[in-house]
Amino acid sequence: MSLKRTDYGGLLGKKDIDRTVVLAGWVQSYRDHGGVVFIDLRDRHGIVQAVFHPEQTQAHAVARQLRNEDVALVRGRITARGPGAVNPKIPTGEIEVIADQVELVNKADPVPFSPVQHESVSEDTRLKYRYVDLRRRDMTEAMVLRHRVYKIIRDFCDEHGFLEIETPILYKSTPEGAREFLVPARLHSGEFYALPQSPQLFKQILMVAGLDRYMQIARCFRDEDLRADRQPEFTQLDLEMSFVDRDDVMGLTTALLARLWKQVLGVTLPMPFPRLTWREAMDRYGVDRPDTRFAMELCDVGAIAAQSDFAVFKQALAQGDRVQMIAVPGGGTMTRKQLDQLTEEAKKLGAKGLAWLKLGGEAGAANMGGPIAKFFSAARQQELRRLTGAGDGDLLLAVADALEVCWRTLGELRQLLARLLNLIPPNRHDFVWIVDFPCFERNAAGPGAPRLIARHHPFTAPLDEDIPWLAGQPEKVRAKAYDIVLNGVEIGGGSIRIHQRKTQFEIFSLLGISAQEAQKKFAFLLDALRFGAPPHGGIALGLDRLLMLMLNRQSIRDVIAFPKTQSGRDLMTQAPCAVDPRQLQELAIGVLRPPA
Ligand code: ASP
Repeated sequence: MSLKRTDYGGLLGKKDIDRTVVLAGWVQSYRDHGGVVFIDLRDRHGIVQAVFHPEQTQAHAVARQLRNEDVALVRGRITARGPGAVNPKIPTGEIEVIADQVELVNKADPVPFSPVQHESVSEDTRLKYRYVDLRRRDMTEAMVLRHRVYKIIRDFCDEHGFLEIETPILYKSTPEGAREFLVPARLHSGEFYALPQSPQLFKQILMVAGLDRYMQIARCFRDEDLRADRQPEFTQLDLEMSFVDRDDVMGLTTALLARLWKQVLGVTLPMPFPRLTWREAMDRYGVDRPDTRFAMELCDVGAIAAQSDFAVFKQALAQGDRVQMIAVPGGGTMTRKQLDQLTEEAKKLGAKGLAWLKLGGEAGAANMGGPIAKFFSAARQQELRRLTGAGDGDLLLAVADALEVCWRTLGELRQLLARLLNLIPPNRHDFVWIVDFPCFERNAAGPGAPRLIARHHPFTAPLDEDIPWLAGQPEKVRAKAYDIVLNGVEIGGGSIRIHQRKTQFEIFSLLGISAQEAQKKFAFLLDALRFGAPPHGGIALGLDRLLMLMLNRQSIRDVIAFPKTQSGRDLMTQAPCAVDPRQLQELAIGVLRPPA
């Protein structure tokens, strides 16, 4: 390279007119207009047009050889574009560079796809050639924004007295909920490290160590079957604070989110964020991560159903089930076929069926339509309207089932219908805190497995007033846990922790972890709780999801530089892959089912 870059082309503007600059970048497009050659040169900040006139013989000759994605250096003078030549679509559209020198630094082979025409490119191709994909404007923007978000977080935490402390990646296998990735320890044959699901116990230990406030932008690893929008490794903002209660952690997190939204998106969030107890969220929305941008709330119509003539509802109520409804605005126009599809959906969600009532159409008070309308007298129909808030043209959907099934079915249908019927207002940022979660949930795993599992994690403190229930009715115990939800997506959660050894043992035992097993797996934590543990609590925010929502992207893969596919593969490096038998030998590991 004989030339040395002086400026980023993407940052140039009218203020730079008459300056002579040297720019470096990638050729984004090439046009030969009857002798004059135009090149869009791209760098991290954007593109700028360079113009090569035939009089500049050397520069013009080299420029004519340039093709897409070649790496080049261009020297020239910035001039204003003529009025007809201004390009309002790009920030540098008012100027161009009249080149007098150019250097082809590195010729590129024809690229598998152009960073400007990516729409038709499959995601697999984008992931395989990620370095080309990351040249795309929106991918580069995502990386820049990610950096800015990290910087704002770090500044905020620093102002609030947090210390950024790294915790180990090679960790100990501990049952925290998810399946762990294991790493064989060569120096200790037959022994394994585990990759941390989160730095949970380290951050608690840091509080015992008196460091008072900890933060880390931490990588976490969970070896789960990948569902949409999950990655085997992901990034959390992990926080922990001493001598705090729930309000402190939620207040600080709210302030941090408000700052991010203000500084990155220019949006002022109304504070404090609304709060719902877990029970309220379930009763009103059927899910613990409610999308509060639209209403369509669940409604218990048991009292009215009991007075109807519909045997199915009455039997359900008699055996202790519930009858719940949602009122779908404008749903009265849905066709029989669409209603059949909804019924199928409801069955997939575990409901025995789905009943429906269409409002309006005919005059008179008893003007509901649908197969079950005849079982509801005019007076009952009026009551249904009043209770559910449904009006003419709307649709009532009903489920008669166990409470959990009503919640799940109507909660999911509510979200599905809101999307289908376009009921979600755009440009909304509806945050809501969910509190008072149950401490435990019943374990779905088969016989022999512990009856209860921790809903958040085993280190979460129960509400003080619920502690008496621990012994007899643990299902009733609520936790000092909180989740933060944005537009129906859970973006983080945390809790106040157990800081008393006795309570920790009690919780372990309820989770089927015996005192011996607890000693074996968590001796370090149980020891730490003996030697001066302050009350403490914290939270973790999923940064990939947060960034996805901030940038309005469809997938978390679009805000991660090098994500893995749905099946956990890195298509660029081809990980995971088989390894040399010698490596396995060193680790004293035999593979039972080698890859085909
Ligand atoms: N460690 C928890 C998690 O990863 C978050 C927390 O309780 O702070 O979900």
